[in-house]
Amino acid sequence: MLDYTDEQNMIREMVSKVAREKIEPLIEELDEKGEGGGEAIDILRENNFMTLPLPQEYGGIGADYTTTALVIEELAKVDAGTSMYVFTTTTDIFFIRDFGSEDQKEMFYPMFQEGKIGAFCLTEPGYGSDAANITTRGVLKDGYYLVNGTKTMASSGCDAECFIVYVRTGPGEKAHGISCFIMEKLPGISAGQHFNKMGFRTNSTSEIYFEDVKVPQERVLGKPEEGWNTLVFGGGAMRAFGAASQALGTAEGAMEYAIKYAKERTTFGKPIIQHQAIQFMIADMGINIEAARSLHYRTLQMIDRGGYSQQEYQLLTSATKCFVCDMAMKVTTDAVQILGAYGVMNEYPVARRMRDAKVNQIFDGASQIQKMIVGRTLEKMY
Ligand SMILES: Cc1cc2nc3c(=O)[nH]c(=O)nc-3n(C[C@H](O)[C@H](O)[C@H](O)COP(=O)(O)OP(=O)(O)OC[C@H]3O[C@@H](n4cnc5c(N)ncnc54)[C@H](O)[C@@H]3O)c2cc1C
Repeated sequence: MLDYTDEQNMIREMVSKVAREKIEPLIEELDEKGEGGGEAIDILRENNFMTLPLPQEYGGIGADYTTTALVIEELAKVDAGTSMYVFTTTTDIFFIRDFGSEDQKEMFYPMFQEGKIGAFCLTEPGYGSDAANITTRGVLKDGYYLVNGTKTMASSGCDAECFIVYVRTGPGEKAHGISCFIMEKLPGISAGQHFNKMGFRTNSTSEIYFEDVKVPQERVLGKPEEGWNTLVFGGGAMRAFGAASQALGTAEGAMEYAIKYAKERTTFGKPIIQHQAIQFMIADMGINIEAARSLHYRTLQMIDRGGYSQQEYQLLTSATKCFVCDMAMKVTTDAVQILGAYGVMNEYPVARRMRDAKVNQIFDGASQIQKMIVGRTLEKMY
């Protein structure tokens, strides 16, 4: 057993109950429609799942990354797309907590307390992995940045009313000269149509347009032109508490379903779980999930406790994102195999989990990019 606190165990049980009783019955239809979270968003709001990291005076419990990761994992056991609303909104809250001024906290915390959804806007149509080349531009004049550009693939994008946005405001190249902003839905900000995706169909993903948006200079998070630092430190945490927690939950949900199915389905006179080939596939799922859980937990504990070196942080956050997401791809693919023909039918939930696992390998820095970070870090360490 991992060393969760009583409060964390209680939260995990509570989220699991709500996810299984209230959210799961909605998912098949929401996934088929592929238009985002619909009613599931109201359930997240009613249960304060998107606001746990807020301080108590704003209705939260000051939840740390480990606790928030548990919420996301439990939701993702049922449906990763729904958990994305918690991921994007808590990301905005954590960025404000870690990099924001007191004025920014006073301005934005009440918006999240009211139920507003957050989004994270880094990727542009021409730049995903290569995000240091972004071209969204902000020009400072009379206390405002005039921001123009297009962000894409923004998770929760169609539903969001608060945005973390990376904008080139300075003269430098690549990571130099990029500022990080927190902004409400100011005039000139609009969302494009929800993309029709293979996975994460229960979360809206869209372009976000910035057309002559007048952004007060007080909306810069941290220092102007030093926005990349927020990404180096906040982005690693996101990979662990968000993307990796989703992948872990998705893998667990797929394994649970595959085991139940394998106990019932018979071939050659016995339940397929009694065929050694199936047993070994299930054993590999369990082994990999447990290994992933240990790494995931270790990384989150490191972030929450602090006192780590930058190299340790980069190594563990990228290793976690890559290992857990690749593991989920393998586990969900094997779960589909165990269900045979039924596995590829969309009405059985393992197909959805396999589609979601593929998305987890790509967003928030694809597995290849995580390996580049791990490789470069190890090169420096030894
Ligand atoms: C459903 C979904 C939700 C998303 N949500 C968000 C969000 O909320 N906010 C946001 O800002 N972005 C979001 N993204 C964007 C996501 O982070 C990017 O798609 C991701 O970083 C990869 O960028 P890309 O798609 O442009 O791929 P590219 O950068 O074009 O890469 C294409 C392929 O080449 C590989 N590759 C690239 N460079 C190298 C290299 N140097 N060496 C080896 N391989 C390499 C990549 O790993 C990938 O497999 C989301 C994407 C999806 C699919």
